[in-house]
Amino acid sequence: MTSFVSHLESALDQTHLDAHSIQTLHRDRPLWVKYDLDRVAAAMTKERVAGREPTMWRYRELLPPPSGAELISFGEGMSPLLRCPRLGGELGLENLFIKDESQLPTGSFKSRGLAMAITMAHHFGIRRVALPSAGNAGGAAAAYAARAGMECFVFMPEDTPVINQYECVQAGAHTFRVNGLITDCGRIVREGMEAMGWFDLSTLKEPYRIEGKKTMGLELAEQLDWRLPDVILYPTGGGTGLIGMWKAFAELASLGWLNSEKRPRMVSVQSDGCAPIATAFDRGERFAEPFPDADTMARGLRVPAAVGDFMILDAVRESGGLAVAVDEGRISSWMGQSIRAEGVAICPETAACIGALEQLTATGWVKPDEEVVVFNTGAAQKYLEAIEQPLPSIDLNRPLDWESIDAGTP
Ligand SMILES: *Cc1c(COP(=O)(O)O)cnc(C)c1O
Repeated sequence: MTSFVSHLESALDQTHLDAHSIQTLHRDRPLWVKYDLDRVAAAMTKERVAGREPTMWRYRELLPPPSGAELISFGEGMSPLLRCPRLGGELGLENLFIKDESQLPTGSFKSRGLAMAITMAHHFGIRRVALPSAGNAGGAAAAYAARAGMECFVFMPEDTPVINQYECVQAGAHTFRVNGLITDCGRIVREGMEAMGWFDLSTLKEPYRIEGKKTMGLELAEQLDWRLPDVILYPTGGGTGLIGMWKAFAELASLGWLNSEKRPRMVSVQSDGCAPIATAFDRGERFAEPFPDADTMARGLRVPAAVGDFMILDAVRESGGLAVAVDEGRISSWMGQSIRAEGVAICPETAACIGALEQLTATGWVKPDEEVVVFNTGAAQKYLEAIEQPLPSIDLNRPLDWESIDAGTP
């Protein structure tokens, strides 16, 4: 079986590890998957890629599964890149795009990472996996585990959106609610490893979820005809998506596939209810302190301590970008603004990015004519708890009153 992976490499100290066996962390920190890019360049051409099925697997030479490995997939990607002129206009931007990941299997971009992680775990003969999840990762893991015929254990904070709890249970995962945060759930997974014999699928604790999420960056470049936008806003929890996209851009540049030198300024967005990365960025630090009393309705952002903190901060700084925190109290209003302006139902995590854009256009950090891409990482429909609007009712015992229906107040 051919693979273009050369080795795995510690993100902390560049130690090389063998990619032919299953690996986790090195000195408690994540690993990069490294490719033999000369061989990739010889085997993969833009024309070949263009002729393949429109899924994330079309970039297969730049992905870890060896040829012939069984892919555990529901056909994920490519997600649409939607031009948003009305929302852009409200924010003072002429070229705003939303890349709508809510259309992916299980309704979030988590499917990219977990399709890859579970494909590789399955390839290495793993039969039992476990992970902590604040929401969408659990649902995606449960679905891909079911598709692979694998056993899956999910540990969630007890206030995780109810849809995420049900999607895990319904896909047959052993699902538990924990009276703590995602970091407490992560500890259960770690402590149970020996007694339970499960493989830890936590964010960045195995090397392949980044490779799945990297495909967002590959796809974006292809959709823009192999150039990149000026600014990318990405709602950051564990940070895999941001780290993965930054890696994708570096790999495309090494392959000589990008039509211009320009790389986007990466903006990592958090809520001020849980902002460890934004705090470390402001303080000029490379490692983040655990964020105290973390709470936000954007559950995917409620990660008080990220094992890949330095990878996120390195990428943001290298790109000339920023890490910002926005007002938790305004997240629902930014959700509403997007769906009313464009019909795109954005999740609370992405709503934080709209808030960040509001700040960054006001200060002039983002210029009106710059090309800006916001990632809608998940489907708003999964957050029943965030929808508070009671509907006006119609009483059939009374005559219909068109005037008040027109006004929305029957
Ligand atoms: C998990 C999640 C995030 C955060 O993603 P990371 O790559 O872990 O930073 C953002 N939005 C949604 C909807 C999520 O489910």
